[in-house]
Amino acid sequence: MELNQITGIGPKTISHLNKLGIFNIENLLTYYPFRYNVLKRSNLDEIEQDDNIVIDGKISSRPNVFFFAKGKDKMTFKLECDNRIFSIIIYNRGYLKNKLIIGNTITVIGKFDKLHNTIIVSDIKLSLLSNTPEIIPIYHANYNITSSKIHGYILNALKFNIELEDYIPDIYREKYHFLDKETAVEIIHSPSSSDMLKKALLRLKYEELFLFMLKINFLKLNNNFQFGLKRNIDKSLIDEFIANLSFKLTPDQLKCVEDIYEDLVNEKRMNRLIQGDVGSGKTIVAIIAMYINYLSGYQSAMMAPTEILATQHFENIKNLFSTYNINVALLTGNLKAKEKRQIYADLNSGQIDIVIGTHALFTDDVKYNNLGLVITDEQHRFGVNQRASLKNKGIVPDILYMSATPIPRTYALTIYGDMDISSIKTMPNGRMPIITYLKKDKEIKEVLNMMLEQLKNNHQIYVIAPLIEESDKSDLENINELYDKMNRAFGKYYKVGMLHGKMEKKEKEEVMQQFENNDIQILVSTTVIEVGVDVKNATMMVIFDSYRFGLSAIHQLRGRVGRNSLQSYCILISNRNTERLKILTQTNDGFKISEEDFKLRGSGDLFGVRQSGDMNFKLANIKNDYDILLKAKEDSDEYLKNIDLYNDKTSIKLKDILFSSNGLD
Ligand code: ADP
Ligand code: MG
Repeated sequence: MELNQITGIGPKTISHLNKLGIFNIENLLTYYPFRYNVLKRSNLDEIEQDDNIVIDGKISSRPNVFFFAKGKDKMTFKLECDNRIFSIIIYNRGYLKNKLIIGNTITVIGKFDKLHNTIIVSDIKLSLLSNTPEIIPIYHANYNITSSKIHGYILNALKFNIELEDYIPDIYREKYHFLDKETAVEIIHSPSSSDMLKKALLRLKYEELFLFMLKINFLKLNNNFQFGLKRNIDKSLIDEFIANLSFKLTPDQLKCVEDIYEDLVNEKRMNRLIQGDVGSGKTIVAIIAMYINYLSGYQSAMMAPTEILATQHFENIKNLFSTYNINVALLTGNLKAKEKRQIYADLNSGQIDIVIGTHALFTDDVKYNNLGLVITDEQHRFGVNQRASLKNKGIVPDILYMSATPIPRTYALTIYGDMDISSIKTMPNGRMPIITYLKKDKEIKEVLNMMLEQLKNNHQIYVIAPLIEESDKSDLENINELYDKMNRAFGKYYKVGMLHGKMEKKEKEEVMQQFENNDIQILVSTTVIEVGVDVKNATMMVIFDSYRFGLSAIHQLRGRVGRNSLQSYCILISNRNTERLKILTQTNDGFKISEEDFKLRGSGDLFGVRQSGDMNFKLANIKNDYDILLKAKEDSDEYLKNIDLYNDKTSIKLKDILFSSNGLD
């Protein structure tokens, strides 16, 4: 059955759906909402500035419609509710004008602008609210297709009673009395009550986590049988390299190097995770690993999650090896075809010893001469499948992962269950803890003064714009506004730059380079700078609307400052949730902070925004759904031990997933 057989879907819509990753009915049906709006009348006595509210009332003025650009309109009218009159503003619903008749009752959903007694409405219903709360799914949408359109298509598709692939083995489906897949999927798109929704979510999350843990357990099983490279290395050369570094390695770093050395000289294949807080110095450990690998005559590939980070690692590594006869190359997606071809050729012939890059390192065109070591930085950015596909390239290379996700050890042992773990717990000497302050919006003057002080000392500053998940449009508005604000305050004497995900790669790199060279003093950015960026002269980070971020996310962000012996500062600006943010002013210990994060978010807030998980699950979140994860771990373990993967009916389906590299995440 094809998408175009669904009522309402034509060729144009199909191309919009494709952009959301929806190519067939199964994709559409499993395009799950990322949160729900519960349509319950807001209490007018309690509503505050910027609250999302739902009210119903009587239309008390004729709607006015203005057209302000091609295909864009703005409609305004008055709505009376409990003897209060609100101004309503809604965009691009001019076509409703004739249905909005004075005296009729309607429901509006939107954001409250208290100052102007106005509601910026995102949706209108031409009826009153019912007494039982209505649960409305909200989907990730884009410019061309709204969440409610997507919902409509899904409801139409559900009418066909399509059978969906169910990956939960019968024994567990029966054991837990799970809903069948089709029912669960139907409920998730049109929940009748929060109880049913919980049931459906539980079942679908279990399925995701079961598959995930099955894969982890399967990899673990495989690793135990896999032999890697056995190396003969002159250890004194490594010691010499370490002694020549401009700083002394910390004991934890030395222990990591030791672990890696043991893995590399041993026949057992290395499959190790280096866990360490931001700034703990993982990169140098990775570099030493590559040096060891070079000494034994093999190529190394190091993969970073972003081009900015890959470029930075490349510069860094090229520098470090400048006095050695080691050929280092950078391979990213935005190289010219000719440059790429040259690198492919040199990798194939063995000319290149070390290559740094993004995912481009592992496309089909890349053939290594003798790849002995693969390193992935900020491992949490990569899913199990990429881990699996890496392993299938080249000659069973050893693998090293690096992650700054400070997840508590028990969690790490589960989700990284197929790996050995080394940890860097202490920061390099001479580094002062970042001092973090919490400020209210109205204290902005004070914040600007603190910034000025840093600038006067020739230091640099990151300014982080808040991020709104639902629409990238307002993200851009936010960051532009912040950029203007900074320019007004400092532009006369200092250069302000801007960095966000919608910029061209080239532009991004240029801005980053300027910041590194101190040609830009204030960098206004979204979280694209989140991972790995290392500009030592940056001593302050100011995060606006910081209540929008999780504690761990902020901790990762602020790790961009305090990268040398200068005292560094982080200023969190927020009018809300200051209780929650306080912990960040009290500790710099990533593990403590993540535990706090777990506690705060552990309650499974059904109607809150779903946290974007580390593992790219559609529904599950390893933090909030840890109980389910543990069950899934237990079950998948048992399952792998007892089942005949090649003959059992359910397991044949599962086998495909285990052996393919793109079935899971
Ligand atoms: P992360 O673990 O976040 O990847 P990096 O490897 O980028 O951290 O290290 C942060 C900074 O600390 C880098 O500038 C690095 O050169 C420096 N560094 C690493 N190890 C040490 C050390 N033992 N002593 C002093 N500085 C170090
Ligand atoms: Mg790093």
